[in-house]
Amino acid sequence: MNDQVKHFEIVIIGSGPAGFTAAIYSARGGASTALFGGVAPGGQLLQTMEIENYPGFVEPVVGADLMQKMLKQAARLGAAVFNEEIASVDLSGRPFRLKAGSGREYTAGAVIAATGAQARWLGMPSERKFIGKGVSGCATCDGFFFRGKEVCVIGGGDSAAEDALFLTKFASKVYLVHRRDQLRATFRLQEKLRANPKVEIVYSHTPVEITGDAKVTGIELKNVVTGAGRRLETTGIFIAIGHTPATAIFKGKLNLDEEGYIVTDEKMATSVFGVFAAGDVMDTRYKQAVVAAGAGCKAAMEALLYLEEGKK
Ligand code: NAP
Repeated sequence: MNDQVKHFEIVIIGSGPAGFTAAIYSARGGASTALFGGVAPGGQLLQTMEIENYPGFVEPVVGADLMQKMLKQAARLGAAVFNEEIASVDLSGRPFRLKAGSGREYTAGAVIAATGAQARWLGMPSERKFIGKGVSGCATCDGFFFRGKEVCVIGGGDSAAEDALFLTKFASKVYLVHRRDQLRATFRLQEKLRANPKVEIVYSHTPVEITGDAKVTGIELKNVVTGAGRRLETTGIFIAIGHTPATAIFKGKLNLDEEGYIVTDEKMATSVFGVFAAGDVMDTRYKQAVVAAGAGCKAAMEALLYLEEGKK
């Protein structure tokens, strides 16, 4: 084997709560452990302003702070945390082979896929045209630029509700545009939205076209019940319509369901013996940080057992 190729007993791909919890358990379990976190380790929680439902924090914790704590905890316990992305995996032989975006290669006795999910876009050409020019997928990152402006959030789930509330810190008005007559967001967030005088919820409307010149100037909507059009004059449009599992590197290598989620059994095992998955990349139902952390724990425990069995 090439001397340049570093070997770890357990390699974890992904740096959300699932990945870091897996790294904590793997390192504490005595396995040499590497976690590849991409250029900005932390996953989706980096974009979450306040987490109120992660046990152990009496007061809300900022997503980025929670992830920093998990990273430091994993590193303190001996996990090597790499700020690079895994670009491809070869799961056809043993050890498993992984290639980073930098070109560096690694081998692993067991792999835990915890690559999470990526924000979805509406898919309209005008949306693509104005990304970075008024259209954003990250309110936490870009909200600051819309001080005193009217903005609009598309979506009806927890992410959209959180984004809308966050944007009220900067914007003069926030429209929350949802395609149905009922929000999907949790009751507590809905209460906060209704209590905020800056928020106007526009029910039963879908985006038709984003308009502007160099930058966004407005959005054309359609009422899904009456078919009537409505225009909102807004310079910021935040898309928060859910997520797609980040499984491109596993396509054709692991069993995925029709939506692209990795299929696992109750022991987090994938279709390849020795490869496990945890977190939003395989969770089609809960998608919660605490559930992902639990799944990361299970995946690491199973990976440790798998390695132990291999030694017998
Ligand atoms: P989500 O719950 O899947 O909600 C996506 C929303 O976007 C839905 O309201 C959906 O409408 C709408 N939507 C989807 N495609 C659309 C389209 N093409 N055009 C217009 N609207 C569209 O996604 P999420 O809000 O990102 O949340 C994902 C998971 O993370 C959830 O389990 C959520 O509880 C969790 N989360 C939790 C927190 C927290 O606890 N603080 C924060 C953020 C997220 P329909 O309702 O009509 O389907």
